[in-house]
Amino acid sequence: MELKLSQRVLSLKPSPTLAISAKAKELRAKGVDVIGFGAGEPDFDTPEFIKEAAIKALREGKTKYAPAGGIPELREALAEKFEKVNGVSYKPSEIVVSTGAKNILFLLFLMLLNEGDEVLVPAPYWVSYTEQIKLFGGVPIEVPTEEEKGFVLTVDDIKPFVNERTKILILNSPNNPTGAVIDEKNLKEIAQFCLERNILIISDECYETFTYDGEKHISTASLDEEIKRITFTVNAFSKTYSMTGWRVGYVGCPNEEYAKVLTNLNSQSISNVTTFAQYGALEALRNPEAPKFVEKMRLTFERRRDLILSKIREIPDVKVNTPKGAFYVFPNFRNWVAKFDNDLEFTKYLLEEAKVAIVPGSAFGYEGFARISYCNSDEEIIEGMDRIKRALENLA
Ligand code: PMP
Ligand code: GLU
Repeated sequence: MELKLSQRVLSLKPSPTLAISAKAKELRAKGVDVIGFGAGEPDFDTPEFIKEAAIKALREGKTKYAPAGGIPELREALAEKFEKVNGVSYKPSEIVVSTGAKNILFLLFLMLLNEGDEVLVPAPYWVSYTEQIKLFGGVPIEVPTEEEKGFVLTVDDIKPFVNERTKILILNSPNNPTGAVIDEKNLKEIAQFCLERNILIISDECYETFTYDGEKHISTASLDEEIKRITFTVNAFSKTYSMTGWRVGYVGCPNEEYAKVLTNLNSQSISNVTTFAQYGALEALRNPEAPKFVEKMRLTFERRRDLILSKIREIPDVKVNTPKGAFYVFPNFRNWVAKFDNDLEFTKYLLEEAKVAIVPGSAFGYEGFARISYCNSDEEIIEGMDRIKRALENLA
């Protein structure tokens, strides 16, 4: 049957990160011994106290529609969190809760973009930015960052790509897929430049809690009041509290007017984030055990990062930066990819030959690299990297 699709969705691609982790899970279910390094989701269970709070909410009958922008208690707790953790003062009425950071971003592009508006997307970038921007008639402009500088974005990287159509810059620090963390000096220069050029900033801070080697995450909106007025601070419970399936994300807006539009968009689409899930999220912010859980995860990831780096450095002809945050490494496999048509074929070879699932760099706008998530046990990390090494040595 002929599909009667809108122009808008004709070129839409599925999320490759979700697709690859689904493929790895499917193979495992069939009994194939695949090790999946594709998924960007912590391998920790959601803490019991968060689950209990949601169960209690269910039992108490919190099973009905909730306010479209989020339950008031959660928005108040988020305002406190922004103040305490990020050093940014948002009123609860400037905060909107939606179904994960992914849907927050979706709504932001829907709210802000007109046909032909350009959005600067520093590359390597997370897979959904470009697809979402295109869906709303925007034009994603890829801004390459340099491997030699650890993929840390600088104002000089941005300048050549700015023109009168530039409307938004996306910042994602710590970065998915490179793990790069933008330092204060660079962040200030970038934000100041956006202020002068009338460019809005969407600051995706989903990985804020995962920084290593003493590196600190800095919220763009905390730099100063003027910068706060051009910045949307996007975040979620997904990574910080290992709540990817709960689908709770949030945004701090420059003012109430933007928040109202986003709330209206929620009210005409999702209605609200699942009511009892919001009570679970509230507990994540209020329970005194939560920061301990988050720190335990952070320390685990830091240790695994060191382990995976040491294993990757045993693989010949592969270069890898030391990421300062998130839970990904993004090695340069160009010498090996050269033996294939492209990096997708290279990762397919690794899946078939080594039974290891990783995501090709081209998914993130960087051909020749690959993203390896280290949301895995030490044993899987050691075995998985040894398998890659062996499969590549077979090619040599
Ligand atoms: N931004 C980045 C950089 C991500 O890696 C992800 C994937 N988790 C998201 C946004 C979406 O997060 P969520 O699961 O909360 O929708
Ligand atoms: N953000 C995660 C990742 O990059 C989850 C997958 C997705 O949302 O695309 O793997």
